[in-house]
Amino acid sequence: MSRIAYVNGLYVPHREACVHIEDRGYQFADGVYEVFSLHRGQMIGETGHMERLAHSLSELQIDWPVSRRALSILTREVARRNRVRDGLIYLQITRGVARRDHPFPENAESALVITARRLPALDKQALRSGVGVITLPDIRWKRHDIKSVSLLPNILGKQQAREAGAYEAWLVDDDAMVTEGTSSNAWIVTKDGELVTHNTSQAILNGITRLSVLEAAAEAGVKFSERPFSVEEALSAKEAFITSSTSHVKAVTSIDGKTVGNGHVGELTARMLDLYVEFIEGKGGPSKTDTWN
Ligand code: PMP
Repeated sequence: MSRIAYVNGLYVPHREACVHIEDRGYQFADGVYEVFSLHRGQMIGETGHMERLAHSLSELQIDWPVSRRALSILTREVARRNRVRDGLIYLQITRGVARRDHPFPENAESALVITARRLPALDKQALRSGVGVITLPDIRWKRHDIKSVSLLPNILGKQQAREAGAYEAWLVDDDAMVTEGTSSNAWIVTKDGELVTHNTSQAILNGITRLSVLEAAAEAGVKFSERPFSVEEALSAKEAFITSSTSHVKAVTSIDGKTVGNGHVGELTARMLDLYVEFIEGKGGPSKTDTWN
């Protein structure tokens, strides 16, 4: 079956899908995106993704290319046409096509691309295998609450991680605090069993998975704290993990080559993965969707 992409009003074969060379996304990274995860045919955290998209668009003064309702229908249609039940939907909106010039163009229409990709179904066993992360200085701009397509520091960080044999890079601010991963949120479990992840601010992207895990923790009576933690604290933590729409809840068993806890997937991490899966299969996603910075 050949893949289908949605590009500015048309469904086209994926391999022929293209945008104009003067699309401002291509020339200036002047655009935003969302990645929705599909689990057993269900879109996870759709409301949250749409709210976060609304925030990103509004912060950059980019118009909705179609109504929010139409966008929701289009994303489902792209998933349907690609027969994706487990996988990802990628949605990108840029400021559109205009003669190359830095100020916002007067009459450009925002451009919309949607693709979908199958992935193996969520596999708890695989997620429990544990990965390594490295730490790197956070050299990004200062608005991580906006899901901008300008991802150069993120891809450089991820590449450095992969070259070091690690799965992810945790980004560290000038105060030696871990902000988040290059494409995930960062978590630790303290010695007294408290979950810790960076508070929402312009320093992190408020992950939809992060919100689901927090809500699942609250419902299950698991203690948590939303605050920055240092690399030092992470190194002496009992457990660590990352969250994202693609990695779900993934155990971290080493940081900069040093073992976290006993080097095995933590008990609370494994529990949070179970609670997360239960939560998304029940509620479909977080209900608190108004905190984007
Ligand atoms: N932080 C960054 C920088 C990311 O790119 C992502 C993945 N989109 C996340 C956090 C996690 O967000 P989500 O749970 O919504 O996938």
